[in-house]
Amino acid sequence: MFDLMKELAGAARVGIGGHVRPDGDCVGSVLGLYNYLQKNMPADCVIDAYMERPSDVFDTVSGIDKIHETADENCVPYDVFFCLDCDESRLGHAAPLFAGAKKKINVDHHISNAGSGDINYIDATAGSASELVYDLLDLDKVDEACARALYIGIIHDTGVLQYSNTSPKTLRAVADLIGFGFDFSTLIEETFYQKTYAQTRVCGKAMFESELLLDGRVAYTVVTQKTMQEYGLTGKDMDGIVNQIRNIKGVECAVFLYELSDKEFKVSMRSTDAVNVSDIAVFFGGGGHKKAAGATLEGSAEEIIARVTQRIAMQLTK
Ligand code: AMP
Ligand code: MN
Ligand code: MN
Repeated sequence: MFDLMKELAGAARVGIGGHVRPDGDCVGSVLGLYNYLQKNMPADCVIDAYMERPSDVFDTVSGIDKIHETADENCVPYDVFFCLDCDESRLGHAAPLFAGAKKKINVDHHISNAGSGDINYIDATAGSASELVYDLLDLDKVDEACARALYIGIIHDTGVLQYSNTSPKTLRAVADLIGFGFDFSTLIEETFYQKTYAQTRVCGKAMFESELLLDGRVAYTVVTQKTMQEYGLTGKDMDGIVNQIRNIKGVECAVFLYELSDKEFKVSMRSTDAVNVSDIAVFFGGGGHKKAAGATLEGSAEEIIARVTQRIAMQLTK
């Protein structure tokens, strides 16, 4: 770990970026740190947060309206730039700003991340990047806006504190954070469990059309652009589908594909201990964690399923 305020001493311009297709942990870690620095850095310090527009469910997170969805590559370089919940390859529009910063700091929990910063705080045993951001903060200087954002990040990446990436340290952080008094129960309901009617129907269709492979140890399902368009949905609305198929009894690895464009699919994988999906994702140019990982692949859905299943089979027969 490093001393956050020491590394920021004297900084006049600070940038923060998260990964493309931001999820709850990306939103939580970026806005948790953003709110903390807004409160604790000198008033004349510029603090800018960069991220693609996340799902509407995060609209109530403080600072979401301040996010830069585009970047000016020719802007004055940042003194310090944080890359959160990813390595620099997934920073999207913020990548040139990170590359051009005087000091680069990378805080992440992806096992596939070798460290992109001058300073790296990368811990693959942590449940979320938000938990690692929390480690860097002085609890006495945290406010409700910051606490609520970090809480969302932790909740989302640990499946509401259920996945095996939840540790005693995670729970101690969460205990501190809910001490700020926000309505955590409604927050979980509204950002994690609640789905629109259209999302529920597409999820139902994806479940109905799911197929089993390798004697029921692998399940997969696919959502096409045509289906998303028919229901007025985008990739942001697909959260949760892969977890549903992982719940099928006997399934050790779940694979979910949604179409990004013609012959290009986002692949999400979830597994039990039997399969290390990070290794498979890295093989295909993506990354992630042992039990949750993703990548973008080109080809037809059938081809991609065949290629991914072959890698899964190699692990299952080891
Ligand atoms: P997803 O299936 O998109 O929910 O991602 C599962 C986990 O893998 C998350 O922690 C993602 O941040 C990570 N992940 C997804 N896609 C990639 C990628 N292309 N490169 C690195 N990590 C990824
Ligand atoms: Mn993430
Ligand atoms: Mn994360």
